[in-house]
Amino acid sequence: MSMRKPIIIGNWKMNGSMAFAKEFVSELNTLITSKACDIAICPPATLLNTLAEALKNTNIALGAQNVHFEEKGAFTGEISTGMLKECGVKYVILGHSERRKYFADSNADICKKVKSTIAANLIPVLCVGESLKEREEGNTEIHLHTELQECLQGIQHPENIIIAYEPLWAIGTGKTATPQEANETIGFIRRELAKIFSEEIAQKIRILYGGSMNAQNAKSLLDMPEIDGGLIGGVSLIVKDFVSVINSNN
Ligand code: PEP
Repeated sequence: MSMRKPIIIGNWKMNGSMAFAKEFVSELNTLITSKACDIAICPPATLLNTLAEALKNTNIALGAQNVHFEEKGAFTGEISTGMLKECGVKYVILGHSERRKYFADSNADICKKVKSTIAANLIPVLCVGESLKEREEGNTEIHLHTELQECLQGIQHPENIIIAYEPLWAIGTGKTATPQEANETIGFIRRELAKIFSEEIAQKIRILYGGSMNAQNAKSLLDMPEIDGGLIGGVSLIVKDFVSVINSNN
């Protein structure tokens, strides 16, 4: 049994509305029975205030899906760490594969964002993961090595960072890594973290699995010793299924 407390993070992506958010939280809060894990919801930025209000007096934390690395200035369309903090945000997803693919977030950008996020006392949830081609050609480890090196270069206080291992071929596809595959790859990520930081830090950092996690497969994934929780996309919008994932941490 590891010392790391599991965390389940829901990523709503570009979905939801104010009415949906309020309804979702009141239902979620009555259905959660597990106290064994931390929980967070990451809605679109326009719903942060609505959710912050709805999550008061619950054990559910608020997260954002992205941030800009500068504190303020002429960056049309962007949001800073200070702005997120003002909304009551605790976690910030960084380097999600959709950001990398559609918005060209590079490892160098993501590294700057990780640094700004830590400097603001927010918790980065850094996403990494290989493509199907890389997995099939045996290049998973080299991909993850590079991504971790480049996204975590020069990080001073890594203790609270969360890593989400999200194989690209499993995101939104209904294909999940087997618990053994996910456990093995997360073990590799932990060994890389030990090389970048130290063994002690690597043992503290929570590493999540993400990619088509659902009510049916969550328990077998979350029971694996290296897997410290889940980053949940599609299923985080279905309250009963999201609760099943949370409650499988019992
Ligand atoms: C994600 O986008 O982080 C994710 C894991 O999505 P899904 O659960 O829908 O595969």
